[in-house]
Amino acid sequence: MSEKAFINSTYEAARFLGIAPPSCCDEVEKAYPTSVSKYYLGIVKDKDNPQQDPIWLQCMPAEQELEDQDSDFDPLAEEEQMAAPRLIHRYIDRAVLLATGRCATRCRFCFRKRTWANGTEMTDITEDELKAICDYLKQTPSVREILVSGGDPLMLSPHRLKTLLDKISAVPSIEVIRVGSRVPVTMPQLLTEEKAEILAAYPSVWLMSHFNHPHEVTLEALEACRKLISRGIPVLNQTVLLAGVNDNADVLEDLFRKLIANRIKPHYLFHVDPVRGVRHFATGIAKGLEILEEFRPRLSSLAVPTFAIDLPEGGGKVALQPNYEIDGKYPSVTDNHLISYEEKLKD
Ligand SMILES: *Cc1c(COP(=O)(O)O)cnc(C)c1O
Ligand code: SF4
Repeated sequence: MSEKAFINSTYEAARFLGIAPPSCCDEVEKAYPTSVSKYYLGIVKDKDNPQQDPIWLQCMPAEQELEDQDSDFDPLAEEEQMAAPRLIHRYIDRAVLLATGRCATRCRFCFRKRTWANGTEMTDITEDELKAICDYLKQTPSVREILVSGGDPLMLSPHRLKTLLDKISAVPSIEVIRVGSRVPVTMPQLLTEEKAEILAAYPSVWLMSHFNHPHEVTLEALEACRKLISRGIPVLNQTVLLAGVNDNADVLEDLFRKLIANRIKPHYLFHVDPVRGVRHFATGIAKGLEILEEFRPRLSSLAVPTFAIDLPEGGGKVALQPNYEIDGKYPSVTDNHLISYEEKLKD
């Protein structure tokens, strides 16, 4: 029998790391079960204070998760915007497909916590559901891009992954497939040569990785990304701004520099959504703007992602920009600047 690859309780995690078990969190684990790969838990560095370690904080339960039981599980109204089973259609030209509920590690800040709360789990997509989705897409040719999400689509078996991509890419109006996965970060071993070959067979595939902290950029994680990049698949990254984990310009600069040095483009920096069970990770919007402002003079545009929030009730994503004014060196763009620019154009 192969050795167990996942850890399913705080107690087990403490034993694995050789530390004293923290008193937290039976009740929390009942509501939101712990599931972390041994690989990911193994990159916890601060064993003296695990509860301050950025990896531990992302994958192990905390009491605050139960402090906002009254708040909304689905503030983005994803369930209401389902156009077909598992298909969230909010914008004209793109839609999100939830391929599976499984993940290589359960992130405590997950904005789809509703899909795995209380030990439930969304199943893998079935053939019937996939057919219903493709029928909808054929009738809705304005949709040109599918974001394959979940859960984590790279948890699907190679056969299921291939079937999914085959069917979606066979819809004539689909031009782009964006696969969102945290597997390169939380269990890079699952990104096998076989899966990389499958993804690379579709010229329209882009991969969206999800690195949040420089400690996650390990040799194994980079090797997983390299399997994709060497086959011509562009790898973009989205990061969630997390209080106590990465809400600091130095930490994020380190992360983004490591990513661009490996041809991974930081694409989005998301503020935490007001979802039940994750609100304690929210930093406030001002924090994100302050970090971006710090980046302006010191960080290449290649390394700087778009900072965005997702509006409640399905309002969609909004990109936010700071007003650059640092030591008078990067004056904010005022109406006057724009007017004089326009005048120059006329000269
Ligand atoms: C984020 C998201 C998209 C993709 O939006 P982009 O701005 O292209 O990244 C599409 N549909 C839904 C429902 C989304 O939440
Ligand atoms: S990998 Fe994504 S879907 Fe899975 S728990 Fe983490 S954030 Fe949620």
